[in-house]
Amino acid sequence: MSATPTMRAIQLVAPHKPFQLRAVAIPEPKAGEVRVKIRACGVCRTDLHIRDGLLDLGRRDFTVGHEIAGTIDALGDGCPSAWMNLRVVVYYYIGCGHCRYCRVGDEQLCPHPKAQPGFSSDGGYADYITVPLRNCVPLPDHVDMAEAATMGCAGSTAVHAGRMAEIRPGDWVVINGAGGVGLVLAQYARNVGARVIAIGRGGEREKLAHSLGVEHTIDATRTSDLAEAVHALTGEGADVVFELLGTREALNAGMAMLRRRGRMILLGYTTDDFQAHPIDFIVREVSVRGSVGATLDDLYEAIDLLGRGVMRSPVAARLPLDAFDEALSQTRHGGLPGRMVLIPE
Ligand SMILES: [Zn+2]
Ligand SMILES: [Zn+2]
Repeated sequence: MSATPTMRAIQLVAPHKPFQLRAVAIPEPKAGEVRVKIRACGVCRTDLHIRDGLLDLGRRDFTVGHEIAGTIDALGDGCPSAWMNLRVVVYYYIGCGHCRYCRVGDEQLCPHPKAQPGFSSDGGYADYITVPLRNCVPLPDHVDMAEAATMGCAGSTAVHAGRMAEIRPGDWVVINGAGGVGLVLAQYARNVGARVIAIGRGGEREKLAHSLGVEHTIDATRTSDLAEAVHALTGEGADVVFELLGTREALNAGMAMLRRRGRMILLGYTTDDFQAHPIDFIVREVSVRGSVGATLDDLYEAIDLLGRGVMRSPVAARLPLDAFDEALSQTRHGGLPGRMVLIPE
């Protein structure tokens, strides 16, 4: 009798501990599922939050990573044969399918999801994953696998937040944090007709931001008052601020950047609290909203925009799967011109 074939998987053992490379059984797809041979998995800051215990959904000993692209290499019962060998990106919410959120496609808000690959069930820092066929979004042939993988979180998250902000042509949009999500958001806002200001830490990323259509960049390392810098560029302030850093300093600066009726969309978080006085909201009628993940439709939209060349998701570097520690520490250090992507080959 031959031994069960195994694959590499990088798993959370416990929060605050390094992820561990393990040999685990290659999964077999159940009815309605497919197996994806993973070709690329992006490294998201959320992976660090899981590692650091900042995001803890209670599960242990599962494979992390949720920006997954690959090729379908096995079909469970009931999956049409036309899907075999298709290149796909994986949608990482598997909602209950029945709650008021799932019913309208807001699976990212499902209170009782069946699974969340990379968050609480096996994800993409591995050679293979099994997911429901419905969670696979087909990729156009010409799209690069690593760039497509990052659409699985960074790109679709940007589309979700961009749609939520209801940006109008001519709006001033500030992106505070020009990382993986921020750079895609900048392009989304630009394509809607907004005027985009990206706040970053200068260097290579500033050039990249301009090449992606950002009108102004502000180097936070050389600017003492970010809100003042935004007001100097916009006159009355920003219509929309996308807040990707989540530090107290950044949140306060974001509030101060808004014009009357301006809206701040929160996407980033740290251990910091956010405090504001009610009058900060009342007299200027500003609003603050959170944005989490994406719907399946947001991911389809992100892949369509990528496929048509309307939006790019820059890849900073591609590393072998075994170099996950290096990829994570570079992501933690920050300032990368795009995403780190692990290539299991
Ligand atoms: Zn993510
Ligand atoms: Zn649900």
